[in-house]
Amino acid sequence: MTAPQTCQNYINGEWLQAKSAATLESRNPADNRQIVATFPRSDAVDVDKAVAAARIAYKTWRLVPAPARAELVFRLGELLRDRKEELAQLMSQEMGKPITEARGDVQEGIDCAFYNAGEGRRLFGQTTPSEMPNKFAMTVRMPVGVCALITPWNFPIAIPCWKALPALVCGNTIILKPAEDTPACATFLVQLMHEAGFPPGVVNLVHGIGAEVGAALVEHPGIDLVSFTGSSETGAYVGATCGRTHKRVCLEMGGKNAQIVMDDADLELALEGALWGAFGTTGQRCTATSRLILHHDIKEKFTSMLLERTAALQIGAGNNPSTEIGPLINSKQLQRVSHYLEIARAEGVKVLIGGEIAKDGELQHGYFFQPTILNNVTPQMRIATEEIFGPVVALIEVDSFADAIAILNDTPYGLSSSIYTRDVNRAFQAMRDIEAGITYINGPTIGAEVHLPFGGVKQTGNGHREAGTTVLDVFTEWKTVYVDF
Ligand code: NAD
Repeated sequence: MTAPQTCQNYINGEWLQAKSAATLESRNPADNRQIVATFPRSDAVDVDKAVAAARIAYKTWRLVPAPARAELVFRLGELLRDRKEELAQLMSQEMGKPITEARGDVQEGIDCAFYNAGEGRRLFGQTTPSEMPNKFAMTVRMPVGVCALITPWNFPIAIPCWKALPALVCGNTIILKPAEDTPACATFLVQLMHEAGFPPGVVNLVHGIGAEVGAALVEHPGIDLVSFTGSSETGAYVGATCGRTHKRVCLEMGGKNAQIVMDDADLELALEGALWGAFGTTGQRCTATSRLILHHDIKEKFTSMLLERTAALQIGAGNNPSTEIGPLINSKQLQRVSHYLEIARAEGVKVLIGGEIAKDGELQHGYFFQPTILNNVTPQMRIATEEIFGPVVALIEVDSFADAIAILNDTPYGLSSSIYTRDVNRAFQAMRDIEAGITYINGPTIGAEVHLPFGGVKQTGNGHREAGTTVLDVFTEWKTVYVDF
């Protein structure tokens, strides 16, 4: 067993102790006897220090030409690529993600770096005609200022990169507040940013508890923008606080995503989608498939196909190459999933497979839950409407396409969605009528690409999108310029 890593804050280009000597720790969720890292329980004084450094650095960083800012982001992409395996192994250990998925998480960070580095030579504005003679009108993108980036643990490299890299190319300075469960992954990323050569104060990292460090950032008058990804509950607080303190805010929150399988679907294809959409990353994705809306005519056959594949899934530690289902992130999450199973049983749902904590042999010291399929679920049950964030999928039967769409939409969330059908008319109707930020036709609810907008409607988001060129609207302010000549 390797010794725990000691993480520190990174402020103004230096690795620093927090004001308080109190520390916290992250543990391997596959074996909770193993401490992966210790990290400081920072407080508002540390946040003040980071904000002061970021404010000073902003004065000069905003004036660095965007292509030069982007070169550092490109360099970071190269460093991430060089250290990809090491970082993926660390992620598997700290977060429990199966190693192939952990490599995918780091790869998203790499893709994000190379993609956003290209924006350094675009960041296009517009020229427009003016109503007046001898007048020239144009729009330019200006940076926003100091950005607080508050991130969850489920994509510990990809999500911080999705936020930090466009923010930096656009000329903002940043303070990253990573999730309490994955401080070592965040520290590794910031070490590479240091190596890439960002000037002091441009990138800052403050570890700690959400309700302490996160809240101090959200309240701080020196922060111009908060970009938050996490639960809808925390997001509502972040959004309200930013409203009260006049900050820009971008919120990416929960999901209750559904996959529809119609009577004319390619069932083998839909099976692959359902299996990995529901159980990939142990269901701990904001885009995870937690409802399967099945047409009556294929339900029995499809369910037996799904049961057979689910029964064969290998549960284990993330860095065991044969593992397909890793642990849940922590004991709180294990209790939450177990609690939802109690609710489901009380609601009269039938557990077709799984439904219990997995604790045989090597699993006994981890937070494992069996992949679970629930039958006889009706759309209004709590199990069908609330985000569980675990390997649990609810089967809902429908008789028509119209009912399938209505049930898919009947949730407070609106992140990802999917329909399997061979009917092109239904595919286009679904694309038009589904209330979600992302719709896949004949693909699972998971699998975002970095050059396309990502985000959701209703309680999932607040109108902004990450990734693609749309993220530039988060991290820049439009300025309109009139030139008389
Ligand atoms: P969480 O809301 O508990 O925490 C997210 C982040 O917010 C963490 O860094 C945490 O420390 C911080 N935080 C907690 N309380 C805070 C407060 N009072 N003030 C400021 N910051 C605070 O979420 P989580 O458990 O880490 O992540 C799981 C959730 O994230 C799920 O709901 C999932 O759907 C969502 N998620 C959404 C997306 C998306 O893009 N829509 C992506 C990934 C995860």
